[in-house]
Amino acid sequence: MKLLATLAASIAFCATTAFAQEDYPSRTITLLVPFAAGGPTDTIARLTADAMSKSLGQQIVVENAVGAGGTIATRRATDAEPDGYTLLIHHVGISTAPTLYRKLPFDTLKDLQTIGLVSDAAMTVIARTDFPAQSFPDLVKYVKEKKDEVTFANSGLGAASHLCGTLFMSAIDAQLTTVAYKGNGPIMTDLIGKQIDMTCDQVTNTLGPIKQDQVKAYVITSPERSKDRPIL
Ligand code: ASP
Repeated sequence: MKLLATLAASIAFCATTAFAQEDYPSRTITLLVPFAAGGPTDTIARLTADAMSKSLGQQIVVENAVGAGGTIATRRATDAEPDGYTLLIHHVGISTAPTLYRKLPFDTLKDLQTIGLVSDAAMTVIARTDFPAQSFPDLVKYVKEKKDEVTFANSGLGAASHLCGTLFMSAIDAQLTTVAYKGNGPIMTDLIGKQIDMTCDQVTNTLGPIKQDQVKAYVITSPERSKDRPIL
């Protein structure tokens, strides 16, 4: 599974209002991030905001509007004035949320306009360093035996980590104990601290800790192996 991060704004931003304004942007822009600070979406958001801010000559404030697998930030974006001063950065969750939530207060296709794709990152299945399994086949065997004794953290219903974890559990036909967080930033802290067993997260966030042996990596969700880490 590949993760697509898209940068989207409310529809009128793209329609007429903002682009018709010759002085746009004349004030600070807010970039809403659906997940906690320190995770991959937050990292990409801050890099993007920095680059955009330089080219637009205007300050971009990054705001983490966390919760409900990213839907809280999306609601904030769709409720905002469609004037181009509230932007949202999101990933695959923007398209899967409507199939996972019974009722959402927005229509992602009608209420948002995509500006552009800013990142395309594979995900990795990782565990705390002292997790008993040494290889992917080992991991499958171990978690199938232990099932709900194993904790699998995700960033909420509809987050990429939730989808990746669900895919993994369904592929091996085992239900682990899932623990919902507000983002993979705090998950990584707890994984390194060995408070949880496993998660699935974008390489954006995992490559550093994998290389520093702070977490154990089992598999990457890309069709090719990673050039950065031979075991993936
Ligand atoms: N990567 C996370 C997810 O969607 C969220 C985050 O960026 O913190 O699972």
